[in-house]
Amino acid sequence: MITLERFSMGIGDRFGQEGEAQLAAFVRALAAGVEIIPVWNKSNREHTLIGTDPASVRAEADAATGALGWKRPYRVDADHIGLKTVDRFLAASDFFTIDVADFIGQPVSEDAVRAFVARHQHLLGGPFGLTSQMLERAARKYLLAVQEAAQIYRYLEKTKGTGQFIAEVSMDETDTPQTPPELLVILAALAEAGVQAQTIAPKFSGRFNKGVDYVGDLAQFEREFADDLAVVAFAVREFGLPANLKLSIHSGSDKFSLYPIVHRQLRRTGAGVHVKTAGTTWLEEVAGLARAGGEALRLAKEMYAAMYARREELAQPYRTVIEIDPKQLPDPATVNHWTSDQFVAALRHDPKNPRFNPHFRQLVHVGFKVAAERGREFRDALTAHRALIAEWVTDNLYRNHIAPLFLGANGV
Ligand SMILES: [Zn+2]
Repeated sequence: MITLERFSMGIGDRFGQEGEAQLAAFVRALAAGVEIIPVWNKSNREHTLIGTDPASVRAEADAATGALGWKRPYRVDADHIGLKTVDRFLAASDFFTIDVADFIGQPVSEDAVRAFVARHQHLLGGPFGLTSQMLERAARKYLLAVQEAAQIYRYLEKTKGTGQFIAEVSMDETDTPQTPPELLVILAALAEAGVQAQTIAPKFSGRFNKGVDYVGDLAQFEREFADDLAVVAFAVREFGLPANLKLSIHSGSDKFSLYPIVHRQLRRTGAGVHVKTAGTTWLEEVAGLARAGGEALRLAKEMYAAMYARREELAQPYRTVIEIDPKQLPDPATVNHWTSDQFVAALRHDPKNPRFNPHFRQLVHVGFKVAAERGREFRDALTAHRALIAEWVTDNLYRNHIAPLFLGANGV
């Protein structure tokens, strides 16, 4: 039986070159006294845009853990898969993020809703204030998504073998957040459908734009997160879901203002968490090239010019998770005159630096297709500046993410 430990972190590495540099941050955390399980994740969307295969993620994870002598578990996540996309991930992955967001709100039979409501009257009232109207509405909204998750889960049981994979159910890529009482209904339905999920990724309220900080009400997030933790603990006790079931935060990376809240709530409750970061490792690669200067800086500038020209095409697949104001993007002619320091300051996520430009950062974040098209030239540049880039990849992951999330403010 494969189970996921209390703390785990999803890491993306678009070009598959930074596995060791990423893992070095987890080694540092272990030395500081916290075990965090690395989970290399890459979605079908990313594989398609870059032209890679799930087997390459497995190869990267195996190579990195081998090279650094990592003796703890590690996982490879088939990120945001559905029935149509899961097959190519089966051999390489042992963690599956079952994405059923598209099925939320899709019509389900009224008989199924009525029967579900009748079977779950015992949930009314209780610690989460579920009313019969909320129960019925949630059943109508989420039952089809749960049925879809169950279908994928059973397919995984058949192909991977029961207990031979970690299942996450994700509902985050949708417009309306799920409230804690809705999460309660969703977990009850998943349990009833036999989906032994170990992590659940709801959509929290507020904006989780890629690579930049959270936009929303922090106090409200903290209440909601604390309530969700309570719902998960209740669901484990009452519904027979796995004892290690935990929340998964699809952070889109760099939700710096949420990290102290998450840390505080985990400490208060003893709960675990899975935090998925997005592909910000790629941004450290670009920053590293800019920092290197010379030809590498010139390549970074050329790539930006291409991204700027193709900004609509590049942003299109990510339109619900980025907010770029084209008027705030620097003109490529201006960027061409930038020094290494100017480029790095605009790109790296230091909210205190007045030269940091979140629009520039988000465009580069979604612009990795341009680097994929440069092919060999880009990969050779990464190799030429390996040490410089690796230093920032490790440092970013450890200092900006792992330390505030898992060690607290004094952990650095
Ligand atoms: Zn997600």
